[in-house]
Amino acid sequence: MKKRIAIIAHDNMKKDMAEWVAKNHKVLAGHSLVCTGTTGKVVSKVLSSRGFSEEIQDVTFLKSGPLGGDQQVGALIADGKIDIIIFFCDPMMAQPHDVDVKALMRIASVYNVPLALNMSSADFIISSPYFTGEYKPQVNDYSSYIERIITK
Ligand code: PGA
Repeated sequence: MKKRIAIIAHDNMKKDMAEWVAKNHKVLAGHSLVCTGTTGKVVSKVLSSRGFSEEIQDVTFLKSGPLGGDQQVGALIADGKIDIIIFFCDPMMAQPHDVDVKALMRIASVYNVPLALNMSSADFIISSPYFTGEYKPQVNDYSSYIERIITK
């Protein structure tokens, strides 16, 4: 089943991400990649230099993460349009858009979307039978929250 996969990497992790996508090009073929702007550029460059662009054609480029790209991914998650997030975070560098990163992690939790923050988690996700098969995440029932009574 076709998955919509968000691909995001902090600057120091972009090379690793491009290598990870290239390494997994056969499994990723036929799925949709939704990338933050600069990550998408780096990944595409590596894919085309290795001759994998034909296999991975369905690539969407959002804005650069710090310029709203992470929030765009968050909005897609809220709309049920992202199935998996692969986000290689740099644990050693403060990010100017830290709040956006946190918001993305939070909204992924709200909608129970699988989120890999490093390569080994990404390897586990991509080798899971759920990756190629069907998987519907169980989402909490938020109706009592939506219908709560506001008294003031
Ligand atoms: P970028 O954004 O791919 O545009 O660099 C990544 C991020 O959110 O840090």
